[in-house]
Amino acid sequence: MAEHYDVIIVGAGLSGIGAAYHLQTACPKKTYIILEGRGAIGGTWDLFRYPGIRSDSNMYTLGYNFKPWREAKAIADGPSILNYVRETARENGIDRHICFDHMVRHASWSSENARWTVEAESAAEKQVARFTCNFLFMCSGYYDYAGGYDAKFPNTERFKGPIVHPQFWPDDLEYRDKRIVVIGSGATAVTIVPEMAKGAAHVTMLQRSPTYVVSVPAEDSMANWLRGHLPPMLGYQLVRWRNVLLQMYFYNRARKVPAKVKAYILKLIRNELGPEYDIGHFTPRYNPWDQRVCLVPDSDLFKMIRERKASIVTDNIETFTERGVKLKSGRELEADIIVTATGLQLKVLGGMKVNVDGRVIDPSTVMAYKGMMFSDMPNLASAFGYTNASWTLKCDLTCDFVCRLLNYMDTNGFAACVARRDPNMSEAPFLNLNSGYIQRANRILPRQGIKAPWKLHQNYARDLMMLRYGKLEDGTLEFSAPGRAKAPVAELACAA
Ligand SMILES: Cc1cc2nc3c(=O)[nH]c(=O)nc-3n(C[C@H](O)[C@H](O)[C@H](O)COP(=O)(O)OP(=O)(O)OC[C@H]3O[C@@H](n4cnc5c(N)ncnc54)[C@H](O)[C@@H]3O)c2cc1C
Repeated sequence: MAEHYDVIIVGAGLSGIGAAYHLQTACPKKTYIILEGRGAIGGTWDLFRYPGIRSDSNMYTLGYNFKPWREAKAIADGPSILNYVRETARENGIDRHICFDHMVRHASWSSENARWTVEAESAAEKQVARFTCNFLFMCSGYYDYAGGYDAKFPNTERFKGPIVHPQFWPDDLEYRDKRIVVIGSGATAVTIVPEMAKGAAHVTMLQRSPTYVVSVPAEDSMANWLRGHLPPMLGYQLVRWRNVLLQMYFYNRARKVPAKVKAYILKLIRNELGPEYDIGHFTPRYNPWDQRVCLVPDSDLFKMIRERKASIVTDNIETFTERGVKLKSGRELEADIIVTATGLQLKVLGGMKVNVDGRVIDPSTVMAYKGMMFSDMPNLASAFGYTNASWTLKCDLTCDFVCRLLNYMDTNGFAACVARRDPNMSEAPFLNLNSGYIQRANRILPRQGIKAPWKLHQNYARDLMMLRYGKLEDGTLEFSAPGRAKAPVAELACAA
């Protein structure tokens, strides 16, 4: 017998715990379970253990809208974020709803019964457990937990020292007084480099191409002052809104006048590193926000470069050698340890196979509806955050929408809802950044449309109006009563 729940949430990371809170608050009569593939709460913030692991956006927007961030640091370290997620789960009794070691592999929808049957594999119990639910809420993140991106550098086996990927940091890696090469230039590399440089002999950040890097204060003095003078939720919401508006302002300016924003960022870097420094290492070929802009707290990366404890080399790898890496320019970088901060491997719907009324759905053929449901996949939503702002801003809104939808369906006696794709809607890639890891994943990601409700605006204010206040019966969402759920339009949704 399969256990039945009104809602199954997949994933007990930041999004899954947030989704559970919203659900039990706004839909208190709904039964739910969280199926989590790993043995712990926290997802990203439990998995990543590399030195210096921290957020690269502020916790006033990465935190939930219902739980004020109370720590002094706005750019917070991984353990503090993990603690915040765990605390949310504990305080609200969400931890009692989590079924650990249950990796969801398969979900199949029956229009006849208006329910999903979900199969989860338990490695410890070496068996498959079956559940059914009326609504499936995917909070499974966006990347593969089994492995990061393997850039396939030539002859890695020749290198005599350890080669470490940040996703699998060994607890016992000793790097004091060692020479370290960190390959990469993204958020992970700019976090690891200054932290390791504190104790290492020297850290070289080896990048193929530069990234925009901007320093922000680790602590938000206004937020810290407000915390002592206003009720916690009021102060938190004020700072959250200020940060949302500032982020939207900078992002929109970067889109409208990229040359000016580029010049401004480069001026900041020049001020950090002085007139002699080759700021080519921080001058990308693309415009700000064509890829994510990396934030560093309190200039930590620049400080280590100024102190000559860290340096940047922009070049391509010819081969790994016994002593380090040989570059296309002919130069050899000697190292005792090499860190491959080469990025993540994206994954859709937690790798779960989906079928609807017996037909396999290929996620790359569906269109995202409001960035959170998918065409012709009934009663399923997915928490997917912003690429140009904090993840949780969008996830909170997605949860609001899902709860409104569930309550609306109950009030009106509907058992199923599905976004029907407009056959005339032109397609665009799901994500609007040209970063390597996103370009690589485009073939597996769903599509977006070019107009609402199929277009992802990556804009909190617009999404707030659409997801929290917009009409549910918008002519695209189709509702049906029990026993009346129609099979989806097969030729639009399904692949053989
Ligand atoms: C190092 C790092 C730093 C980041 N910093 C920021 C930041 O500063 N700001 C920001 O906005 N974003 C940041 N991100 C993005 C970050 O992942 C999100 O902010 C957020 O933590 C995602 O939460 P999540 O719960 O949606 O996904 P995750 O944290 O990935 O959690 C997903 C959970 O689902 C589980 N799961 C997945 N598939 C299945 C399945 N099939 N069955 C069962 N369980 C499953 C996983 O085990 C995991 O516990 C960062 C990402 C990384 C990797």
